[in-house]
Amino acid sequence: MADMPARKRIGLVAHDQKKADIVAWAARHLKVLQGCEIWATGTTGGHIAEATGLPITRLKSGPLGGDQQLGAMIAEGRLDVLFFFVDPLASMPHDVDVKALLRISTLEQVVFACNEATADFVITSELFGTPYQLERAPHG
Ligand code: PGA
Repeated sequence: MADMPARKRIGLVAHDQKKADIVAWAARHLKVLQGCEIWATGTTGGHIAEATGLPITRLKSGPLGGDQQLGAMIAEGRLDVLFFFVDPLASMPHDVDVKALLRISTLEQVVFACNEATADFVITSELFGTPYQLERAPHG
């Protein structure tokens, strides 16, 4: 991928222990997020939409395949940035889905923020609001 429009197509996901953090983060960056097209896993998306009023396309819940739906979007070149607030202290039945998302995001040059500090840096980057094109083929 890495041929990104100015209006970024983003994914939002948070493990259960990080849901309050991503809601607060989304509220802090509301203005920028209002300029994005947003998808989220089911429960995360519900919490953020309720707290912020952001229009969000909700996929299935993560453990029921929502992470894999995001993976499919990435493989099809339909997502530019993934904000995934990962809980590093819990093991979950769908741990493998995080690894799969990291791999397909790496392959497709999707920007992957796995914690709040990285998410802050990404969303305030001057590149976030402009078109972006990798100077070589993403798989090169
Ligand atoms: P959820 O999924 O937003 O439906 O809780 C997140 C996850 O992948 O655990």
